[in-house]
Amino acid sequence: MNETTQENLDPADWPALRHQGHRMLDDIFDYLERLRERPLWQPIPNEVRDRYAEPLPREGLELAEVHERFMHEILPYAVGNAHPGFMGWVHGGGTPVGMLAEMLAAGLNANLGGRNQMPVEVERQIVRWMRELFGFPASASGLFVTGTSMANFIALLVARTAALGTSVRREGVTSAETSLVAYTSASAHGCIRQALDLAGLGTDALRIIPVDDGHRMDLGKLESAIAADRAAGLKPFFVVATAGTVDVGAIDDLSAIETIARREGLWFHVDGAFGALGMLAPELAPRLAGIERADSIACDFHKWLQVPYDAGFILVRDGDRHQETFSSPAAYLSREARGLAAGSPWPCDFGPDLSRGFRALKTWFTLQVYGADRLGRVIAGTCALARYLGERVAAEERLELLVRPSLNIVCFRHRGDDPDRLNRDIVVGLHESGVAAPSTTVLDNRLAIRCAIVNHRTERRDIDALLEAVLALGATDTHPTVHASK
Ligand SMILES: *Cc1c(COP(=O)(O)O)cnc(C)c1O
Repeated sequence: MNETTQENLDPADWPALRHQGHRMLDDIFDYLERLRERPLWQPIPNEVRDRYAEPLPREGLELAEVHERFMHEILPYAVGNAHPGFMGWVHGGGTPVGMLAEMLAAGLNANLGGRNQMPVEVERQIVRWMRELFGFPASASGLFVTGTSMANFIALLVARTAALGTSVRREGVTSAETSLVAYTSASAHGCIRQALDLAGLGTDALRIIPVDDGHRMDLGKLESAIAADRAAGLKPFFVVATAGTVDVGAIDDLSAIETIARREGLWFHVDGAFGALGMLAPELAPRLAGIERADSIACDFHKWLQVPYDAGFILVRDGDRHQETFSSPAAYLSREARGLAAGSPWPCDFGPDLSRGFRALKTWFTLQVYGADRLGRVIAGTCALARYLGERVAAEERLELLVRPSLNIVCFRHRGDDPDRLNRDIVVGLHESGVAAPSTTVLDNRLAIRCAIVNHRTERRDIDALLEAVLALGATDTHPTVHASK
């Protein structure tokens, strides 16, 4: 009788696990409850980093011991985007509700590739809610993905199949009689360019259209680029408008771009990574007019909706086009009318992932518990804070407002002899102070301090603390101005 040698990974002592589990939950609630008292970020000590060169552990440790390591070595040295002073890049803050949902999802351990299961229905409900929010028809399809980078890539592949037919899936793009060309603005996210690379179309097939004074795609230049490409015998097929650019939060003229796309027979995609969910805020929704006529929309629930990472999403108006871009017959994935293999089409028919986590659950909990209106108010609140920051910067003569906030992003800088160097140093100093974390960008060849207010926890006092720290760092700047050597 060798029954007892069969091991599994569940605890021998469930009450002890329960006790330890509750401690872990308490510790992370403590972290969230007292976030503001902690430094936003701190550099990783060498002795901590060095421990992570240890070899593969052959013998296991106690869960409590590994948790201690998490508390002392990992938690204090994360990016800090949950902290109210975090304004760098475009990061969401997460919520306790999203965290708990993620825990439930991990316990259930559902694989959302497909099959006849309620978790897939939850994902379908989010798809329905997004159709409703964006005014898309019932035939529209949607899919959770890692983030907008992947969502934009999927949109490009669907547009490619729509332009060339499903034979492109067998033959590849090299056999296409004419070369495909795509369009986006100079303010678009770098992942658009990457998508052309990944799709095998090459980044040379992307036309970067200049922007106007408001950082929006110049429509006249878009039209002339399309005309020039047609004259050269190329095949324009895809235009990406941005709803909320990363550098300044500009929203392209979606209606006008849609009109051009229809006239020219182009697929009209909207990169709405964070901005698209402005639809939840009544004061922002009118600025997204035209998004309801897009062929596809990419967005991230992990940004303005505060869902814990990661939770990207792609919505495609023509669900059939979407499905025929990805679905593949495979004997081991065959479908039935009843039983566990029913419920076709499955999520795996709409994207490259087969095994997929239950990202929908944390999004579903977030929408259910907070409600769309409250989430919309949080989104609008970040824009109000950006306006407040813009006003304070404009009123301070040591600072220079570089772009008036149009959404939730403010770009400014401290005045000085060598402002690029000074402001770069100020931002590093802010990070190291643990008080606030903006990032930098370059606007008209000028380095800017860029504050993207995305986190629901950010308040006026965090904006005040940021400005106080910027001015203090500016005043104590001791770095010698570097003059070009003769
Ligand atoms: C954040 C962002 C992306 C990339 O999204 P990920 O979720 O990081 O992949 C693309 N476009 C815009 C406008 C963004 O703000």
